[in-house]
Amino acid sequence: MEPLLKINSETCIACYACVRACPVKAIRVQTEKVKPEIIPERCIGCGSCVAVCGPGAIEVRNSLDDLRKILGRGKKVAALVDPSIAGEFPDITDYRKFVQMLRMLGFQYINEVAFGVDLVAKAYKDLFKKSKGKYYIMSNDPVTVSFVEKYKPALVPNLAPIIPPVAATAKVIRKIAGEDVILVHISPLIASKDEIRRFEGDSRIDLAITFVELRELFSEANIHETDLEYSDFDAPLGFKGSFFPVANGIIQAAGIEEELHLTPVITVEGNGMIDAIREFEEDIGTIKHHFNLFYKEFLMGRGTSAGGRRILRHSQLIKYVNKRIKTLDKDAWEASMTEFESLNLNRTFRADDQSLPVPSESKLNKILKEIDQLNPSDIGCGACGYASCTDFATAIAQGLAIPEMCNIYASRNRQDHIQSLKISNEKLAQAQDALKRSERLAQKEKEAAREASEIVRRMLHKLPSMVVICDMNLKIIQTNDSFIEMLGEDAKEINEVVPGLAGADLKTLLPYNFYNLFTYVLAQNESITNRDIHHEGKILNVSVFVIEKEKIVGAVIRDMSAPEVEKEEVVKRLTEVIDKNLSLAQQIGFILGEGTSEAERMLNSIIESYNLRQDLKDR
Ligand code: SF4
Ligand code: SF4
Repeated sequence: MEPLLKINSETCIACYACVRACPVKAIRVQTEKVKPEIIPERCIGCGSCVAVCGPGAIEVRNSLDDLRKILGRGKKVAALVDPSIAGEFPDITDYRKFVQMLRMLGFQYINEVAFGVDLVAKAYKDLFKKSKGKYYIMSNDPVTVSFVEKYKPALVPNLAPIIPPVAATAKVIRKIAGEDVILVHISPLIASKDEIRRFEGDSRIDLAITFVELRELFSEANIHETDLEYSDFDAPLGFKGSFFPVANGIIQAAGIEEELHLTPVITVEGNGMIDAIREFEEDIGTIKHHFNLFYKEFLMGRGTSAGGRRILRHSQLIKYVNKRIKTLDKDAWEASMTEFESLNLNRTFRADDQSLPVPSESKLNKILKEIDQLNPSDIGCGACGYASCTDFATAIAQGLAIPEMCNIYASRNRQDHIQSLKISNEKLAQAQDALKRSERLAQKEKEAAREASEIVRRMLHKLPSMVVICDMNLKIIQTNDSFIEMLGEDAKEINEVVPGLAGADLKTLLPYNFYNLFTYVLAQNESITNRDIHHEGKILNVSVFVIEKEKIVGAVIRDMSAPEVEKEEVVKRLTEVIDKNLSLAQQIGFILGEGTSEAERMLNSIIESYNLRQDLKDR
C-alpha cells in the first residue's frame, strides 16, 4: 500500500518548513536528492508537515477511489462518523440533514462513534479504579500511540490496553448488521487511515476517509442539504461520548472526577503531548496521574478543512451535543450500554523502536567544524529545521540532514562557488580570445588555399594538354578547356551551363577503349603512362594516374598530331629507340665492329635531318 504521506518533488521548493515542523524528525534530506522525503517507518501521522507546506507539496494518500468501489458493490456499508462533524460542517444547519446526505451517497448504516466513546469511557473508568500504583497513558489518539511505540518504547506497557472508540463502535455495528457489513470510518485525522489497519476480527474497519474527502464526495455527487429531509443516526446513539472531539470530552463521558485536587487524570493536547510523555517517563512516580493525551484535539484534526477556527468549532460542538442530549432516549441508551457491556475492548501494542544511534563527540565536532559552528549556542537560528546546531549536526551524522540545509554553510559555499565561477569565467574568456585568433588564422589560410586553388584551376585551363579528373563512378570532377575542345561542340555547349562538365559521366563522353583506362586504374590502383589511343582520326597519348586510392583518378592527354607535340615527340621517341638499343648495339659492336657505329651514326643523322627539316618548315 502507498505510504500515508509523500512529498511531490516537482512542487516542493525545498524550504524545509516541513523538517522544522516534524516533531519526530521523520523527514530526511539527502545530498543526491536535495528535496526532502518522508520516512514512513518514522512518521507518526500527525500531519504537522502538511499544515506548514506552503506549496501543498505533501500529498495525503487519497481513499476516495476505494470508497467509490465499496459503495458501487451493492453491499451493506456502514459509516462510522466521528462526532467532530459538528465543528467541520457548520454550513449544514442540522446534523440530521448531514446523516441524510450520507445515506444519499449509498451508506445503509450511519452510526455515530459517540456510542463507542461511551463504552470506552466506561472501560477507562473501570481501569483507573482498579489500577493500584500503575499509571496509564490513554490510547485514544493514534498519533500519541504511534509516538510511544516508536520513540518511547519503554512506555508501551503504560499505554492503556483499551481499543479506541471507533474500534468499539465497529464491534457494535458488526453485532447489529452482521459480519459481512463493510465499515468506513469518517474521521477528522489523517492518522486514522493507518490506524484502522491494526484492528482485526470483529473490530475490523475496511476504510478510513477524512472529512475533507467526504466534502469532496458530496460535491462530486451534487448532494446538498437543502434538497433533503431529516434522518437520524442509526441506533445505538451516543450520550456524552459526543464530547469526544474536545480533549477532556472522554473524561466527562466517563464521569471521572475533574476537580483539580481530586482528578486522577491530567489532560494535555497539542505539541505539549511530547513533553508530557517525557515527563511521564521521568517523573510519573511523583506525578501519580494517568495521562489523557492528544497531539491535536480531534475538532482541529488534520483531516478537517484547513483554516477552521477552534473556538467556533468548539461552540458548534457544544450546541450539537446539547441538541442530541435533549432528544436522547436515555433508557434506550442505558439498555444499549448494558447490551454491549460484555464486548471485549482489550488491545495490545507493539514496540517499534525508531530511535537512532547517538553519534560520538568526535564525529559531532567534525561536522560542527565543517559547518563553521565549533562553539554552537544551545539555540540555533532554526533555518535548518533543528532547534540547535548540535541537533543539526546530530541529524547529519544520523543521515537525516545535509550541511547544505545550514544557511551559513550554504552562503559560504555560495561565495566559494561564485569565486570559482569567476575564475572559470576568466579562463573561458581567455580561451575564447585564443579561439578567435585561431579562427582568424584559419580564415587566412583558407583564403590563401582558395587563391592557390584558383591559380591552379586557371593554369589547368590554359594547359595545351587535356586534363580530366573523375571519381570512382567516372563522374567528372574537373576538366580543362583543351579536354572540352577535344570532346567537340556538344561538350562545349554543356560546359556553358555546367562549367567544367562537373558531374558528367565519362562513359557517355568517351569510347570504351578510352574510359576503360580509367576503370583499370581505379580498380588496380596502378597508373598507366603514355598509352596511345586512336580517337576520331587522332593519336592521343594518354597517362592516367591515381590521385586518391580507389576514389579519384586524373588523366593528362596529349594530341600527338599537334604541331608542338609532333616534333618533340618524334625526337623523344627516336632518342628512346637509340637508348633502348644502344647497349644491344654495343654488344653487337663487339661482334660486328664498325657496323654498329655505322647504325648509330645513321639513326643520329635521321634525327638531325628531321630537326633540320622541321626548322626549315617552321621558318
Ligand atoms: S514544506 Fe517541505 S515539502 Fe513543502 S515545499 Fe517546503 S520543503 Fe518541500
Ligand atoms: S506527518 Fe508528522 S510525523 Fe509524519 S512526517 Fe509529517 S510532521 Fe513528521
